[in-house]
Formats: sequence, C-alpha cells, structure tokens
Amino acid sequence: MEICLQHYIEESIMTEQRTRSQKRILQILKKLDGEVSAQELHLELRNRGQTMGLATVYRSLEALKREGEVQVRVLANGESVYTTMQKDQHHLTCVNCGIVITLDQCPVSHIEEELEETRNFKVFYHTLEFFGLCRHCQLASSK
Ligand SMILES: [Zn+2]
Ligand SMILES: [Zn+2]
Repeated sequence: MEICLQHYIEESIMTEQRTRSQKRILQILKKLDGEVSAQELHLELRNRGQTMGLATVYRSLEALKREGEVQVRVLANGESVYTTMQKDQHHLTCVNCGIVITLDQCPVSHIEEELEETRNFKVFYHTLEFFGLCRHCQLASSK
C-alpha cells in the first residue's frame, strides 16, 4: 500500500510539473505570436530566466500538440515550427531561397466539409503547403 501511495505521489508531482512546463510554453507561444522552433522557445525561456531543458520543451510541445493547443508545421529544411493558433494555414514555400508566401484565401475549404461527410472525420484544422520556386528565383535561374 505504502509503495502504491508513494508511486501515486511521484506520479502526480510529475504530472504537475509537466503541466506547468506546458503552461509556460503556451504563454510564450502566445506572446511571440508567430511560428517558433523548439530551440527558439528553449532560448526564449532562458532569456526570461525560466530555464527549461530542451527535452522538456520538446515533450511539452508534443503533449500540447496532442491536446490540440499547438499546431506544428515542418519547414522545407526539416525543422518543426510551432504556433498556438488553431487556424488553417496555407503556404507557398520557395525551395531555393526559403521565402514563405501566405495565402489569405483557403483554396480547399470545401474538402474539409467533404471529409467530414464521407470519412466521418472531425477536422480541427489543416495546413496546405506548396513547394517550388518563387518569381525571383525563377528569374535568377533562367538567366
Ligand atoms: Zn525563392
Ligand atoms: Zn484552408
């Protein structure tokens, strides 16, 4: 019995710490208002005197993602960036210079409704990515 209680206490302390890290990360993500990588968050926390291990940052982001609090996007260079917004994202990314152009209008909003009907899948959000060459890079490569 005693062991079980000890285990229970340890477990709840861990959960509490986990939640606290998540809250801190969520707060910073909201303040930063944009996409940030785990490393950038790690640095930002340190700058604010709230040092947190990088592994904890990753773990917290992962948990927040599963809870639907943060959104993840993988950049062309393989890096993941995080935002708090539960908003659809549409990007054109140039594979040469890395410029990201955001589309204001959703070109696929009808697909979401379709999926909810045909697949019986409740869609939270979507991201749409197009990769290619921007106008500038096309001109530069044709020279
Ligand atoms: Zn470009
Ligand atoms: Zn959309």
